[in-house]
Amino acid sequence: MQLLPLAPDGVTPVRALTIAGTDSGGGAGIQADSRTMALCGVHACVAVAAVTVQNTLGVSGFHEIPPQIVADQVRTVVGDIGIGAAKTGMLASTAIIEAVAGVCREVGIGRDGDIPLVVDPVAASMHGDALLHAEALDAVRHTLIPLATVVTPNLDEVRLITGIDVVDDASARKAAEALIALGPRWAIVKGGHLRTSEQSTDLLFDGEVFHELPARRLSTGNDHGGGDTLAAAICCALAHGYSVPDAVAFAKEWTFHCLEASYDLGAGHGPVSPLWRLHLDRK
Ligand code: PLP
Repeated sequence: MQLLPLAPDGVTPVRALTIAGTDSGGGAGIQADSRTMALCGVHACVAVAAVTVQNTLGVSGFHEIPPQIVADQVRTVVGDIGIGAAKTGMLASTAIIEAVAGVCREVGIGRDGDIPLVVDPVAASMHGDALLHAEALDAVRHTLIPLATVVTPNLDEVRLITGIDVVDDASARKAAEALIALGPRWAIVKGGHLRTSEQSTDLLFDGEVFHELPARRLSTGNDHGGGDTLAAAICCALAHGYSVPDAVAFAKEWTFHCLEASYDLGAGHGPVSPLWRLHLDRK
């Protein structure tokens, strides 16, 4: 696949920022984001919003970082290091979402700023463990998503956010329209969890044109962190100045390779892995 360029000046890589939760099992969240960014050749800055207690069997608890500290991490990184794009993942609560939205507007992150923002509206783990308080859904809808350059919900998150159950192409289009009505520049409705065909087709919509992005379906049983990986790879490509459709096309291919390279771990779901990138001679 066509990889992202490394440091434009031959020395200092492009930077990206993830604002998200940690995964003590190392598969998803900030660990997946930083790993993807590093292997895309992008320097990863991190603003920790929550610490999860997690292994391959599920999430057994989490601790929220004080909202001001989350916002301060963003402010201090943008002011000194400078970033090409940002991404949000698990933000846990209304208070954290409001603090993150406030600092993003302040420093120019988001659809109307200079720094593009990928919003992955993380609500629950694949085991159904909550990563977002139910009361925070309104803040996701009306405070976080309107800031997004691109929003990347999975089908469970689409249902929670829009009330639409995506079961086919027509309902996927209705859901994309409902997401765009909340105010992001672009919305993706991911088809990965719609297990009705050989293809895993994502729908990308900007309010005018539907772009269908097919990929071969690959079921490995080890797809923990897949959503984070896709959103982080989009963020990396945006940091390099790609358009949203080009960034999403890059990220889909990246994530497919990561799914191919996923591995068994613990007694539960293993992670998708960008470590294939260290074995380029095999590709
Ligand atoms: N833990 C954290 C901190 C996450 O951000 C996410 C997803 O974004 C998950 C767990 C769940 O990942 P998955 O649904 O791939 O299990």
